[in-house]
Amino acid sequence: LSSWSAVPAGPPDPILGVTEAFKADKDPRKINLGVGAYRDENGKPYILGSVKKAEELLTSSKPDKEYLPITGLPEFTKKAALLAYGADSEPLKQGAVAVTQSISGTGALRIGGAFLARHYPHSKVIYLPVPSWGNHTPIFRDSGLEVRGYRYFDKKTVGLDFEGLKADLLAAPEQAIVLLHACAHNPTGIDPTPEQWQIISDIVKERKLFPFFDMAYQGFASGSTSQDAFAVRHFVSQGHQIALAQSFAKNMGLYGERVGAFSLTTADPEEKARVDSQLKIIIRPMYSNPPLHGARIANAILGDKALYSQWEGEVKGMADRIISMREKLYSTLTHDLKTPGEWGHIKNQIGMFSFTGLTPPQTKALAEKAHVYMTGDGRISMAGLNSSNIEYFAESVNAAVR
Ligand code: PLP
Repeated sequence: LSSWSAVPAGPPDPILGVTEAFKADKDPRKINLGVGAYRDENGKPYILGSVKKAEELLTSSKPDKEYLPITGLPEFTKKAALLAYGADSEPLKQGAVAVTQSISGTGALRIGGAFLARHYPHSKVIYLPVPSWGNHTPIFRDSGLEVRGYRYFDKKTVGLDFEGLKADLLAAPEQAIVLLHACAHNPTGIDPTPEQWQIISDIVKERKLFPFFDMAYQGFASGSTSQDAFAVRHFVSQGHQIALAQSFAKNMGLYGERVGAFSLTTADPEEKARVDSQLKIIIRPMYSNPPLHGARIANAILGDKALYSQWEGEVKGMADRIISMREKLYSTLTHDLKTPGEWGHIKNQIGMFSFTGLTPPQTKALAEKAHVYMTGDGRISMAGLNSSNIEYFAESVNAAVR
């Protein structure tokens, strides 16, 4: 008898399931709006020019394949922290930010979850927005934290439930941990305004909550990496100690290279050194040390003036193409097709995703009748739309809601 005869089959991943259905569909008009990866104007994966150049430079320098330190490539993590916190950041200037390389954003969240479970002295409860990225709950549960939710999305307005958010954070137990999407909230595409962020910061201070930022899309929301870092920088400037997970998957298109960073702001360099030592103790038995190649690419881009400005332009190019698809979809639905319903949210939402408000039966009908695939909650990746398929998509939505 096999040792695994009693292992139950688990449910398939909801997002990867969409891709499988898409692949099996033979219709030439098919569209995949399920994946959270950028696609260019021709619907193809996009390798940034700055990344190609950085790789050429790397290849010609014939680097070795030695192990990295446990916390990764130090030049890279220093620059990653600078990108997030900004040159004016007090903890950064004081040498009080503990930072480690991570297996992209997911790994950063997992290191953070494990660190908080082991060392945060006050609470093992983390509050996530409802809804949040589907992997947040298992990441933090498997890290040893208790996961709870705070209200975020208002179905009626297809916008932020700011009153619900405030009430839930005010009612959270003192010193609980709260996860905040720094920008381009996934899956809703709805971010607090700068004024709302200031109020959230005040509530977090009043309730002595511990803010853990997930910044998977820096630059992708507005096209500007510093504008998208507003929330993180505001909290730090208000004296909060924060945890931060960064990913270079989206903003550098380095998805499969797994480049990220996790950081904590600490009181001073001496405390930072103690925190660093504990980060190493958490990471060493997990995966020993992180992969080299992607970190070298990101380091080359962040450290070279010309490559950096090329990259900034490419991030803005991706963000702008997504914003133009939002405008085109909105105007096709409302002006050309006179589709029933309110579609302003399509234009107002931020980042890679749009929560369309389409219902599960409508998304099912779109897949079966129109060969258009999205997650069952009606979330679409705007990056999957382009000038060749956007009209067909709008017509299909129009037919599905009538
Ligand atoms: N956090 C959010 C909100 C995300 O949407 C994602 C990816 O979709 C991630 C983190 C982590 O992605 P990765 O591990 O590829 O960096």
